[in-house]
Amino acid sequence: MNTVHFVGAGPGAVDLLTLRGKSLLENADVVIYAGSLVNPELLTYTRQGCVLYNSATMTLDEVIHSIEAAVGMGKSVVRLHTGDPSLYGAIREQMDRLTALGIDYELCPGVSSFSAAAASLKAEYTLPGVSQTVILTRAPGKTPVPESETIRALAAHQASMVLFLSAALLESVANDLVSGGYAPETPAAIVYKASWKDEKIVHCTVGTLAESADGIRKTALICVGDFLGNEYALSRLYAPDFSTGYREAKE
Ligand code: SAH
Repeated sequence: MNTVHFVGAGPGAVDLLTLRGKSLLENADVVIYAGSLVNPELLTYTRQGCVLYNSATMTLDEVIHSIEAAVGMGKSVVRLHTGDPSLYGAIREQMDRLTALGIDYELCPGVSSFSAAAASLKAEYTLPGVSQTVILTRAPGKTPVPESETIRALAAHQASMVLFLSAALLESVANDLVSGGYAPETPAAIVYKASWKDEKIVHCTVGTLAESADGIRKTALICVGDFLGNEYALSRLYAPDFSTGYREAKE
């Protein structure tokens, strides 16, 4: 029986798909793609006759049934998820159903939108002297967020923070960020469709997030933290007075 491949499609730009993901797409008989966010141009890598399903219009049962039917006919199946499938991908419930059916699967990672956003911002999340932690989170929506992980609670760390799935909730996000501990003047950015041709970046502060959105309500990340500012310490890795396993310190 063929192994089902969950493949990370990357953030949008076609050439940010991994080579492994590309080869899996090229060899697939059936591709079930998350049509709400996956760039349809990626589907041009599939061969003629490959059957395509858009999971945006399907239920979990329908997705599983289409995988089960295809695998039963000896076909190779790719389940194509946006960014990296391990983040907000709802893949666990699919994997558990496949396990119950005795169907093997593997995961192929993808470039997450939070990495693409950093590239677009020309930013480093983990600046020495600023933050050595990145918090990836979201505001509660249809999916609740555990009480211990509210934006307010996480804001207390004042780490670098990236919020997924929250662009329509900027006002409450900004309030929670400030009441949790970020100063209103902390730099922030809204990155819409990172790596797509119609990408948009808005630079603002935590205090001005809501009024800066410029109509952006989805397919955007909210990036927050002093990593977007101009002050930081130099890394020890390249410091001349610091020896590493590869380089002796210079006196
Ligand atoms: N697995 C995906 C996230 C899926 S959840 C990943 O690793 O990126 C969907 C949310 O991801 C969107 O609401 C948006 O917040 C974010 N997102 C996905 N692609 C994006 C992109 N190209 N630019 C900005 N945000 C994006």
